[in-house]
Amino acid sequence: MKRNSRLLLIDQDGVLADFDAGVRAAWQARYAEDAPFAERRHFYLRDDMAPQHHARLQAVYTAAGFFAGLPPIDGAVAALHELLAAGHDVRICTSPINDYRNCVGEKLQWVEQHLGSDWVARVVLTKDKTWVRGDVLIDDKPHISGSLTPMWTHWLYDAPYNRDDAQGRRRVVWTERDSWADLLV
Ligand SMILES: [Mg+2]
Repeated sequence: MKRNSRLLLIDQDGVLADFDAGVRAAWQARYAEDAPFAERRHFYLRDDMAPQHHARLQAVYTAAGFFAGLPPIDGAVAALHELLAAGHDVRICTSPINDYRNCVGEKLQWVEQHLGSDWVARVVLTKDKTWVRGDVLIDDKPHISGSLTPMWTHWLYDAPYNRDDAQGRRRVVWTERDSWADLLV
């Protein structure tokens, strides 16, 4: 490892795997209609949907195959390979949903399928990311709280629902290399 190697924690949903696109595709497949959300203004998708759709939304994202089938976010897979090749200790730090039955195994399956089997050993599953050591956490959730003071600095993975909440934090988009490629030098 090079001397300036860093411990990088990378969130999965909304940073590597496109949860919203997965919901749109699964909604169309399951209900034969467009998913009932347009503008994304809140972190939790349900908060951008009327209450009468919440049960159907939950049925979509708890179904077998949903998490394993999420499409990768543009540039994410290549970026993680580059960051690892640059000498960083890259870990995928993700919080499974409480209805874990399909989610947990399929999150690992997604990593194996898109990043490769070596990366399964790089997954950290936790319900509280403040317990995980790291130098940087790249995450799309605007406010990450837990029972400890985090050791990492939160870089915000850009999304329409967190733009008003950046609060001076660094903003990352995989396809905008200037936003993260300084980690490669
Ligand atoms: Mg996320």
